[in-house]
Amino acid sequence: MKQAEENGASDAARSDGRENGYAPALGDMSAEDFRRYGHEVINWIADYFEQVERYPVLAQVEPGELHSQLPSSPPERGEPMGDILADVDRLVVPALTHWNHPSFFAYFATSSSAPGIFGELLSAAFDVKAMLWRTSPASTELEEVALDWLRQMMALPAEFGGVIYDTASVASMHAIAAAREGLNLGIREDGMSGRTDLPALRLYASEQSHSSIEKGLIALGLGQRSLRKVPSDSDFEMDTAALARMIDEDRRSGALPFCVVATIGTTSSTSVDPVPAIADICERENLWLHVDAAYAGSAAIVPELRYIFEGWERADSIVTNPHKWLFTPFDLSALYCRRLDLLRRAFTLVPEYLRTPEDDSVRNGSDYGVQLGRRFRALKLWMIIRYFGHEGLAARIREHCRLARRFTSWVGDSYDWELLAPVPFSTVCFRARTSVEDETEEERAARLDRLNERVMNAVNATGEVFLSHTKLGGVFTLRLAIGNIRTTELHVRRAWELLNEKLHEVSKEDLKTSEG
Ligand code: PLP
Repeated sequence: MKQAEENGASDAARSDGRENGYAPALGDMSAEDFRRYGHEVINWIADYFEQVERYPVLAQVEPGELHSQLPSSPPERGEPMGDILADVDRLVVPALTHWNHPSFFAYFATSSSAPGIFGELLSAAFDVKAMLWRTSPASTELEEVALDWLRQMMALPAEFGGVIYDTASVASMHAIAAAREGLNLGIREDGMSGRTDLPALRLYASEQSHSSIEKGLIALGLGQRSLRKVPSDSDFEMDTAALARMIDEDRRSGALPFCVVATIGTTSSTSVDPVPAIADICERENLWLHVDAAYAGSAAIVPELRYIFEGWERADSIVTNPHKWLFTPFDLSALYCRRLDLLRRAFTLVPEYLRTPEDDSVRNGSDYGVQLGRRFRALKLWMIIRYFGHEGLAARIREHCRLARRFTSWVGDSYDWELLAPVPFSTVCFRARTSVEDETEEERAARLDRLNERVMNAVNATGEVFLSHTKLGGVFTLRLAIGNIRTTELHVRRAWELLNEKLHEVSKEDLKTSEG
């Protein structure tokens, strides 16, 4: 947006205050200025994608650095658009961690694709509040269509109806609310507090499950103690014998088991819970099965990966995040549910001013959740699916999995590194494993934790690559997550080179210290 700065308000224009990018006295920006700055912004984004590798992936700023450069009070008079865009360049961009950088391998790597960005832009222009069908027929019906297309791409049965939420955290909370509604305990009407007629409700999820499940229970008033964390095995998959035992214990003690959350693609290691066995238990025990496939669900559109999802078609609800691995700009989370009627029953509340004549024949989005107004998120998903097609999207996910296998093979072939978890998708968990003579097991564990943390920090400090970590079985674990639409083998190779370079440097420093 350098151009914008040059084109920005001249002193002369400033003096009359109403031209060259300034807001008019009333109303919005003129169509002419909108075109001019709109073109500039789109050009800027095109350049950004072409040159994103010029930027350090991880923001190289100190806490408070951006804040201290911004005025502490709002401008009394409007400022010219050119100046504002120039400040995005000058101040905002340096304080960005570039999630759209192809060497972003931290957490779960994500990316926004061009058709998704166009969808966001148009959605901002339409600015619909998709609360009722009549306030947003296009949003309501495109949501049904896009989610049904995605369902078909993931080969889920037609009984699953979909609803879009902002995040998986919120989607899972709504699924748990539907499960609770299905108990017919009058909780919607009477709540839970002060009731002596209610048993303690219990939900089961593996110790590897995402914290959003626990947060959902907090938000719904079920409390943290309603979560039973089921142990996982050496591959970080839920131990189903322990699950069955815990359900049995709870029933004996008078508690009421009502829901199990299985994860396909856990956050730390992308492990896959044994969903068929969990579904058997849920069917036998009459429990709601919610599958959290926030990250991995997108991989179900790749036919040869579908075997990993075996059993999820038996779930009551499933969440997957196109904003994680389907090239959809944040945010868009898809909840699929067999019992949308229960979800609706849990949340529908229609004041007089929202009643419409077509209420009985249409879907009104606000019936399915806490929010009244809802963003037109379906547009970007619909545009992405149309632009890339099922085949194109599957090819990209398949390639990410291939790159992860490649990286896995380098780790496996190297004496200095080891894998710490199976790699079912596109995320690799590994660590450096150098050895030192005369070390106890305990000393080695502590030393390797420190070593790997230093290697990760050294790699991240280069700004070329961004990796994050987790702990698996108490062990400091590096994670390389591939999910960006612009990532190629060159980027993955460079990450591997940097890891080896930094391991060498850090080990050399250690040697010097121990000799000194
Ligand atoms: N579930 C799993 C398995 C995740 O990995 C994550 C995030 O990484 C979430 C849920 C939460 O996702 P969101 O940020 O959409 O709430």
